Amino acid sequence: MTLNGEERRFDPICGMWLAPEQVAATYIYIGHVYSFCSAECRELFARKPDVYVVRLAYDPEAYIADFCPGQRAGQGDRSEPSTG
Ligand SMILES: [Zn+2]
Repeated sequence: MTLNGEERRFDPICGMWLAPEQVAATYIYIGHVYSFCSAECRELFARKPDVYVVRLAYDPEAYIADFCPGQRAGQGDRSEPSTG
């Protein structure tokens, strides 16, 4: 996606669209570069990249939620995505 000539990248963990200067971390998986708003999001993706890639491919709106640890600061619990 481009906006005014500026390429935006999708954070598959928390569902944010990131401007280049907002990308805090990247992860290369099967030849594709994924971008993240934070190292925490990258860490979550790195644990189960296949899960997130599949979800992104099949039903992105179903899981775009508040997974981002940076947006949930102060909350101790976190739901792990189920493989079904
Ligand atoms: Zn994020």
